[in-house]
Amino acid sequence: MRFFEFDTEKIDRFRQLTDRAKRVAVVCHMTPDGDALGSSLCLMHTLSALGKHVTVVTPDAPPKTLGFLPGSERITVNSYQHDKARNAFLNADLIFCLDFNDLRRIDRTAPLVEASAAPIVMIDHHLNPTLEAEIAFSHPEISSTCALLFLVLEAAGLAGHIGREAATCCCAGMMTDTGNFAYNANDPGIYRILAELMERGVDKNDLYNKLFNTNSLTRIRIMGFCQYARLHVLDEHRCAITTLSLQEARDFNYSKGDTEGLVNIPLSIPGIVYSIFLRQDEEDYIKVSMRSKGNFSVKELCERHFDGGGHLNASGGEIRDTLDNAMARILELLPEADKMLEDYSEL
Ligand code: 5GP
Ligand code: MN
Repeated sequence: MRFFEFDTEKIDRFRQLTDRAKRVAVVCHMTPDGDALGSSLCLMHTLSALGKHVTVVTPDAPPKTLGFLPGSERITVNSYQHDKARNAFLNADLIFCLDFNDLRRIDRTAPLVEASAAPIVMIDHHLNPTLEAEIAFSHPEISSTCALLFLVLEAAGLAGHIGREAATCCCAGMMTDTGNFAYNANDPGIYRILAELMERGVDKNDLYNKLFNTNSLTRIRIMGFCQYARLHVLDEHRCAITTLSLQEARDFNYSKGDTEGLVNIPLSIPGIVYSIFLRQDEEDYIKVSMRSKGNFSVKELCERHFDGGGHLNASGGEIRDTLDNAMARILELLPEADKMLEDYSEL
């Protein structure tokens, strides 16, 4: 990807649309992560520097832990600023959909996008896009939407407008989607982008501290509790399952983001190929998170069983049932997963 080349016509069309646009709406997926927010805010800063009026809309509230990202105070949250969000799409002459490729990922924001007459530019790195866009940059081989966004802006001749704040947001997304360049990080091209961003004044040490080295006491306690008391290792299935019930979440004063990264930890146990985390968000609503290694596709499992999807090695979904029943459903799919393990390779 070092010298990534886009289709020239597509880039020309992108440039035309952005040049012409005066009012831009940017939307990313619900429960936005560093890459979703980072790419949205990077684009907001860059297009604002070009004199455009930009509104970033998130379907629900971003986690407080990402509130330090420059410009996050300007985000419009559709779940409680619905009129403002609706107007942003109604008045927009260009819409950007970032870090998702399926309208179901933006929940109740989808009708607002559908009702708008503005053309849509999609920039995303998930597999199997279904979103219909005027221009779609869909590149699952690139580790973050932020890196892809940088390449698109650069190809369109707009990289000169990426200032320190935009670069900081972009770098944050590249870091969070690769675990600070620990996985999906073998592409030399991302280090060229990183260098470009740091030339613009990004303080990467500071970003690392804020993104990876800042924990609330509640988060530390919940992570510790789950690993100590709620982690089940099924050696013979090469699988680890961690749970957090609604009651436990309440007891520990859980808030959004407190279990971020928890699902990755059991993958560090030799022999474990995939890890599942079940978090009971409501009595009969379980958020499913899965991580895997090599060619074992948790995306397939999440799509087939949990109305979800994502990436080969990092996916999610949901179970509309109690935690006990959710656990039972996970145990039921172990034979199917065992079959998948027969073809397992580390890649
Ligand atoms: P996480 O486990 O961190 O919540 O999500 C990991 C990845 O799985 C995300 O980057 C996202 O791509 C995907 N994902 C998580 N939840 C869902 C879901 O409910 N539906 C779909 N389609 N993808 C999801
Ligand atoms: Mn992403």
